[in-house]
Amino acid sequence: LLNNIELLPPDALFGIKQRYGQDQRTTKVDLGIGAYRDDNGKPWVLPSVKAAEKLIHSDNSYNHEYLGITGLPTLTSNAAKIIFGTQSAALQEDRVISVQSLSGTGALHISAKFFSKFLSGRLVYLSKPTWANHMAIFENQGLKTTTYPYWANETKSLDLDGFLGTVKSAPEGSIFVLHSCAHNPTGLDPTNEQWVQIVDAIASKNHIALFDTAYQGFATGDLDKDAYAVRLGVDRLATVSPVFICQSFAKNAGMYGERVGCLHLALTKQAQNQSVKPAVTSQLAKIIRSEVSNPPAYGAKIVAKLLETPELTEQWHKDMVTMSSRITKMRHALRDHLVKLGTPGNWDHIVNQCGMFSFTGLSPQMVQRLEEIHAVYLVASGRASIAGLNQGNVEYVAKAIDEVVRF
Ligand code: PMP
Repeated sequence: LLNNIELLPPDALFGIKQRYGQDQRTTKVDLGIGAYRDDNGKPWVLPSVKAAEKLIHSDNSYNHEYLGITGLPTLTSNAAKIIFGTQSAALQEDRVISVQSLSGTGALHISAKFFSKFLSGRLVYLSKPTWANHMAIFENQGLKTTTYPYWANETKSLDLDGFLGTVKSAPEGSIFVLHSCAHNPTGLDPTNEQWVQIVDAIASKNHIALFDTAYQGFATGDLDKDAYAVRLGVDRLATVSPVFICQSFAKNAGMYGERVGCLHLALTKQAQNQSVKPAVTSQLAKIIRSEVSNPPAYGAKIVAKLLETPELTEQWHKDMVTMSSRITKMRHALRDHLVKLGTPGNWDHIVNQCGMFSFTGLSPQMVQRLEEIHAVYLVASGRASIAGLNQGNVEYVAKAIDEVVRF
């Protein structure tokens, strides 16, 4: 019965993780997966998260009961505040729906399911390039995806004209998936002025914006600055179309495997005071109920505690600065070593890009040689997770890059 099922190749990113794990060389460096590492190359449990966990366990009423279908209200409401901002008109006008999801991927999945049920036939536009999983998440729900220009390889900068051109020529009411900040894989974000042009172009065609927010706090270390694009979009599209926000706490709270996230939907002003909010909420709840019954509680309780306890929130902000500033330091160290070595090419893009990743410009052949000869692992596209660099390995990595570039 199952004889004709096609064998698929292993997932590219998790394949790297596996090969890295099996590599016996002591000099090996993992620049593949987007997970933060400390200066000793170890996973980092944020001090604020440790403190929140302790608080939860010290509570006598602590238990492992089911959450409600749409998740833990103290998580979803506080999570909404950090992405929309406390002054948000959408929140004040009570036109935001927030439900808990299985991290950012789960929020994208619920959105995709919702689009396929209620907005089918609309094209989903993804940046070129984008996170490897985006296309599969939407296409698995029967949606058609296509791309909008984003990265201009020649200049290692944003192809704004191409981007705007596609927004303007896309069929009215299409869905645009936007990276709120710290674009994966390029590490290149539009400037604030460019965002205004992008959002206004989206509004002019009545498109739907979906902001994928997996790295709030990772671009600048500041939650508010990193929410600029989302808040602009929610504000300027308020009379045009609903805005979807897929929020992950995997990176900024280091909760990767606990799967903590939210889907927020900002309804239009016209939908205020109507039956839209309860109707849409009920449909989202139906999707969640039929798929996961109710979302996971443990990580949600930790992040909720983080967000509702002022001292912990303060520590969390410091923890995000710790992570983002170490990554920035490593960007500079890598660029400086390459310059010192006289490695052919210009490496300034490494320091100009932000977030966890750098789109290095290394070719797939160079990446392959890095792995085979130097035990330095990164994605074939040349995307390097800068979080994998530390004082102890950055010079080694620079020398390895130098060798493969000259080879
Ligand atoms: N979107 C983007 C752009 C990402 O890079 C990631 C994580 N790599 C996600 C969403 C989802 O991550 P998670 O499901 O772990 O929150």
